[in-house]
Amino acid sequence: MSESTTPTRLVVIGGGPGGYPAAFYAAALGMDVTLIDEEENPGGVCLYRGCIPSKALLHAARVMREAAESEAFGITFSKPKINLDKLRSWKDGVIAKMTGGLGQMRGLRKVKAVRGHARFTGPQSVSVENADGGTEEIAFDYAILATGSRPTMLPLFDIGSDRVWDSTAALELREAPKRLLVVGGGYIGLEMTTVYAALGSKVSVVEMLPHLLPGADRDLVAPLAKAVGHITEQVLLNTKVIELKEQRGGLKVTFQDKKDETSSDVFDAVLVSIGRRPNSEDLGLDSTAVVVNDRGFVETDAQRRTAEPTVFAIGDVAGEPMLAHVATYEGKVAVEAIAGKKTVFDARAIPAVVFTDPEVAWTGLTEGEAKEQDIPVKIAKFPWGASGRATTLARNDGVTKILADPETERVLGVGITGVNAGDLIAEAVLAIEMGATISDLALTIHPHPTLSETVMEAAEVYHGHSPHFFAK
Ligand code: FAD
Repeated sequence: MSESTTPTRLVVIGGGPGGYPAAFYAAALGMDVTLIDEEENPGGVCLYRGCIPSKALLHAARVMREAAESEAFGITFSKPKINLDKLRSWKDGVIAKMTGGLGQMRGLRKVKAVRGHARFTGPQSVSVENADGGTEEIAFDYAILATGSRPTMLPLFDIGSDRVWDSTAALELREAPKRLLVVGGGYIGLEMTTVYAALGSKVSVVEMLPHLLPGADRDLVAPLAKAVGHITEQVLLNTKVIELKEQRGGLKVTFQDKKDETSSDVFDAVLVSIGRRPNSEDLGLDSTAVVVNDRGFVETDAQRRTAEPTVFAIGDVAGEPMLAHVATYEGKVAVEAIAGKKTVFDARAIPAVVFTDPEVAWTGLTEGEAKEQDIPVKIAKFPWGASGRATTLARNDGVTKILADPETERVLGVGITGVNAGDLIAEAVLAIEMGATISDLALTIHPHPTLSETVMEAAEVYHGHSPHFFAK
C-alpha cells in the first residue's frame, strides 16, 4: 500500500469465497474497497449454486439414511414422506441466511457494493454494466479478479432440453426424476448421486475413466464406491456417452464402453457434471496485460499478481484446485501483497473433501502421487472397524491413512474415509503445515471416544503398537 494518507483504492470483481473475504480483509487493513458482483449479496457460486446448497441437501440425505439404518438397533421409522417444496425452501432459506449475513458484513466493513457485470477498460479502470443497461466507471489503484467458474457443457449434451441439467439445475431441486443419469464420477456427480438417490430417484452413474473420483487413492475410494453401488441402479466405468436425444417421455442416451460396444437406455433427466471452466471471457482483459492460458485460467505468480502489475487474480479463475478454501486463502495472499507485506502462496497441504456418505477427505501427498513422483513413503492405515466411536455410530465403513517420510517420520499426507472425514482432515492439514512427525500425532492425547482418535491410532499403527488394530 502507498505511504500517502489517501487509502489504496481496491476493486474486487466477483463476490464469491475468493472475492468477499479479500474485500473484507482489505477494508480491515484500511483500503477503500469496492466489491462488484452480479448478485445483490456476496456469496458467489459456493453459496448460491455450489458448496452450501449441496451440503444442505446432503444433510437431508444423511438424516434419511440414518433413520433407515437405525432399524438395525431396534428403532423403526416409517418410510420418509418427502415434501420437495419444503425441502427446496429450507435449502433456499439457508442460502438467504448466509448471503444476507454477508451483505450485512459488507456494510459493517464499509465496503462499497456495485451490482453488475464488470469489464476492464485499462490497467486501472473498469466499467460496470448494471442490470438496467446503465454503466458506471470506476478507477482503481489495484484490482482483484475473482470471477470464478461455471459448469462445462459439451455440445453433445447441449441439445436445448430442460431434462439435461448442470449442477446449478440439479441444486434447484425441480423434481426427483424417476431415472436420473449422472455423467461424471467426480465429486460433484457423486454428491448429487447421494442426494437424488435419497430423494427416491433411480440413479445411474457413467464415468469415462476406470474409477470413481479419479485423483484420490483407490483404498480411500473403495468404501464410497461400495456405498454408491448400493444406492444406485448401475455404475458404468470405462464408458462414454456418445449420443443424447430427446424423445417422448425421456432422454435416449447411447453409451460406448472400452471395447467400443454401444448400448442405449432412456432416462427422465441427465445431470452433466464433467468439470468446470473459468470465467475469464468478456472481462475486457485485452485492455490490460493480463495473460490467459490455453485452458482459460488467468496466469499469476506466487502472490497471485497477473502479468498486469495492478491486477491480481484468485480462486477458480486463476487455476486449480478449484475449491472455495483455496480461493479464500489466495485472496488473503493477494490483499497482503497489495498492502506491501512479504507474502506468497506457499501452502504445504490443501485439503480436498467429497461430502458423500461416507465422506472422503485427503491432504498433502497421496499414495498415487508418491508412486508417480518416486517419493519414498511408509504408509499406515487404521480401519474404522477397530474404532469404538465408529462402532457406536454403526459406521465402521471408514479408514484413516497416513503417509510419512520413512527417514524423518515427518507426516507427508493423510487420507480419511468415513462419516465426518471432512472435519477430521483439518488436524492433518495442521500437522503437515507444522511439520509434525508420526510421533507428534501418536503422542497427542485425543478425546475418547471420537473419530479423531483414528488419526492417533493410524500413527500408532505406523509404529506397530496400536492397542486396537494389529497390522501384520
Ligand atoms: P465464484 O464462487 O465462482 O464466484 C464468482 C463470482 O463472480 C460470482 O458471484 C459471479 O456472479 C461473479 N462474476 C463473474 N464475472 C463477473 C463480472 N464480470 N463482473 C461482476 N461479477 C462477476 N468447493 C469447496 O471448497 N467445497 C465444496 O464443498 C464445494 N462444493 C461445490 C459444489 C458444487 C455443486 C459446485 C458447483 C462447486 C462446489 N465447490 C466447492 C467449488 C466452489 O464453489 C468454488 O471453488 C468457489 O466458489 C470458487 O470461488 P471464487 O471466489 O473463485 O468464485
